[in-house]
Amino acid sequence: MITVSEDLLDEIRAHGVRDYPYECCGLLLGRYAAEGKIVSETYPISNAREESAKRNRFLIEPVELMRGERYAREHDLEVVGFYHSHPDSPAVPSQYDLEHAWPTYSYIIVSTSPDQAGDLFSWEQEPDRSRFNREEIRITACG
Ligand SMILES: [Zn+2]
Repeated sequence: MITVSEDLLDEIRAHGVRDYPYECCGLLLGRYAAEGKIVSETYPISNAREESAKRNRFLIEPVELMRGERYAREHDLEVVGFYHSHPDSPAVPSQYDLEHAWPTYSYIIVSTSPDQAGDLFSWEQEPDRSRFNREEIRITACG
């Protein structure tokens, strides 16, 4: 289970709509607790893919990831997952996502269209990396 505030989910949706028709991506920062992951901040990252490929896949540059991880450490937070958008397609992981994910993290995906965000789901990879499972999102009122 992943706990996220409605405000942060709105930020993810807004980032997705802003970057449409490209995929947006970012880090989910927070901590690992007994009841699951708790997100306290999002950390937007620019999509490193070339323009032509940005629609279908996201790539976080190692230097940006390191910057995000350093920011998290300095704020006593951990990277608990990633978020990205799927322009004009469902909020379910692609084959590319499956091949570029790690089992310990949560992957929030939001479906976007020109003027609004659609479904938003969180996914966790099976330990053997064979597939993703839907993860329950517990939504809190504020961050
Ligand atoms: Zn994806």
